[in-house]
Amino acid sequence: MTREYFDPYPGRIYKNNGGGQFICIASADDTYSAVMKNIESGWTFTANGIGIYEDGTIDWDYSTGGYFDSLKDWEQRVKVLNRAVNTFGKNAQVDMMIEEMSELTKALLNERRGRANNIAEEIADVKIVLEQMEIIFQNGEEVNEIIRQKTKRLDKILQDRGE
Ligand SMILES: [Mg+2]
Repeated sequence: MTREYFDPYPGRIYKNNGGGQFICIASADDTYSAVMKNIESGWTFTANGIGIYEDGTIDWDYSTGGYFDSLKDWEQRVKVLNRAVNTFGKNAQVDMMIEEMSELTKALLNERRGRANNIAEEIADVKIVLEQMEIIFQNGEEVNEIIRQKTKRLDKILQDRGE
């Protein structure tokens, strides 16, 4: 199987060929190196010379500075959401996204009409499944970059209005 050196994306979970799952915590100084954490054991280390195979599994030439660390709240959340995607699959979770978006739509309409509503719960549901969309479509970095650009454009529009 072909192996290519690559830089893993912070916030994303990768499998290695031994079946372990590792969340990328942060990029490291050198290229093709990153701080990785085993999501089961909490073993955290800098992986150097990271390579990715055609099937998406990764390995690394050597690791340095290992220690045990508990999972942070966001790491635990990514772990659970990643597991949901692997357990239920793309189609079920995309259907879930459509369903939750319509439930939020309905909650917003209820609020507009002065009816009882559960906007907070429906916003939470949408955010939980939205994050799974970024896992499924592997585009979290692209999404963040577009958010950055659009926020900048919105800022300019507001400034041009003198606000
Ligand atoms: Mg809901």
